[in-house]
Amino acid sequence: METFEIELESFLKTILPIPELYEFLLIAQNLSKKRGEFLYFAGGVVRDYLLKTLYKKKIEKPKDLDLVLQGNLKNFLEELLKKVKGEILFESQFLTYKVKIYLNGKEFLIDFITARKEIYEDIAKLPKVFPSDFKDDILRRDFTINTLIIGLSPPYKGILIDLINGKKDLERGLIKPLHLNSFVDDPTRIFRGIRYKVRFSFKFAEEFFLALEKCFKKEALKKLSATRIANELRLYLNKEPEEKLKELLETTFYLNIFEEAGIKVKKKNFNSLIELLSELRDELNIKEREKFFLLGLLNSQFLEQALRLGFTEFELKEIKKNIDFINKKYLKDWKKLSLWEKIKVFEKIPPFYLLALAIYFPEIKEEVIKYFKEYKKIKPELTGNDLKNLGIKKGKEIGELLDLLKRKRIEGEIKTKEEEKDLVIQFLLKKSEN
Ligand code: ATP
Repeated sequence: METFEIELESFLKTILPIPELYEFLLIAQNLSKKRGEFLYFAGGVVRDYLLKTLYKKKIEKPKDLDLVLQGNLKNFLEELLKKVKGEILFESQFLTYKVKIYLNGKEFLIDFITARKEIYEDIAKLPKVFPSDFKDDILRRDFTINTLIIGLSPPYKGILIDLINGKKDLERGLIKPLHLNSFVDDPTRIFRGIRYKVRFSFKFAEEFFLALEKCFKKEALKKLSATRIANELRLYLNKEPEEKLKELLETTFYLNIFEEAGIKVKKKNFNSLIELLSELRDELNIKEREKFFLLGLLNSQFLEQALRLGFTEFELKEIKKNIDFINKKYLKDWKKLSLWEKIKVFEKIPPFYLLALAIYFPEIKEEVIKYFKEYKKIKPELTGNDLKNLGIKKGKEIGELLDLLKRKRIEGEIKTKEEEKDLVIQFLLKKSEN
C-alpha cells in the first residue's frame, strides 16, 4: 500500500461544486474523528482530481461526491443530521444512503456509502454486501483507476491511499480490472470500462481483454438482465459527451459486447442514429430520446432482441405493427406520395417508433427530421372556437377544416390568420351553394 500526503484544503476547494459544502464537510470530518470512524472520498472524485492536478487533463467538476465511512453509517448520519439540517432520502440494500442537506437556504444531495465487502454468488447477479474496512471497499471496485481514496479523518487524514497501483495506471492511461473474474461477477463493468476509456482517451490493459475472454466463456453477458444492459447503454447517451457517442458504440461493437449480450445491432445505423439524436435534441423528451436510442441500435431483422434492451412484449408488438403499417402500405410508393400524405402517415405513428423507422428505412429519414423540426409544429392560428364563431357548427367539420388550414400552411399556400379566415369563408360559401 502506497500513501501520499496531499493538501486537503486545496483538494476540497477543487472538487466541491459549491463553497457551502466545505463547512458541511468540516462538520462531517469532526464527527467521524470523534466517533473514531474513518471517513474518505473514493471513486470518480479522487480519480478526476488527480487527472486534473497531476496530469493536467481538462476535467469537469464532479457531479456526485462519493463519501465513504468505515463504520456505522446510519448511526453516523443520524448524529450528523442533528448538527446539519437535512434528511435521509433513500437507503439502499447496498448500505448506501442518499442524503439531502440544506445549507444557506439551498438543497444538496450527497451519496454516503458504507465501506463494504461484496460477494458474488451467481454469475452477473447482484452481490451480497457486508460492512467492512476501506481495503475491502477498495478491492470491490471496477478498475484500478477508481481505487484511489483520500482520507478526511484519522488515521489517514489528508492522505491519498493507493492500495493496488491505481496511480500508475492513471498515469499510463490504462483501464485495468482488479482481477480476471471481474466481468463474470459484474458484466456492467465492461460498459463502464468502455465509457472511461473513451471519455479519457485511455487504453485497455491486457487484463481487460483477458477478463473479457473469461466473461464470454462463462456467457455472463447473456445472463445480465435486460434492465441492467439498458441502464448501462443509457449512460452512453446521458452521461458522456455527445461527440463521444460514436466511439462508445463502435468500441462496444468491435469488442463484440452487443452480440455476446444477445443483441444484434447494425453498425451501419450508428451514423443515422447519432445524426437524428443530434438534429432532434430539442424535439424529444428524455424518455423518448432514450427509447429511440435503444431501439435505433437494433438490426430491424432481429427486432425480438428489443426485449434484451428492456422493451416490453407490448412495445415490441407496437414497433412491429408500425413497421408493417409503413412498409406494406406506403413504402413501395413513397416517392409518389404528396408531402401532406406523408405527414398523415407520420401522424399515425408514436414519436419514438417513427424515429426508429427513420433508421430502419433511410428513404424516409430526411422527411422525418423535417416533420419533427417543422411540420409537426405548424398549427393554424384559428382555433376550434374561432371556427364555431364563424358559423361552423359540426364537430366533424371543425376537425376537417382545422386539418385543411394546417395543410394549406404546410404547403405554403396560406401564411396569415386573415388568409385562414378567407379560406373558411370560401368553405362556407361553397357549402351554401350546395
Ligand atoms: P463518473 O461519475 O465520473 O462516471 P464515478 O467513478 O464516480 O465516475 P460512479 O458510477 O459514480 O462512477 O461510481 C462510483 C464508484 O463506485 C466508481 O468509481 C467505482 O469505484 C465504484 N463502482 C461503481 N459501479 C461499480 C461496479 N459495477 N463494480 C465495481 N465498482 C463500481
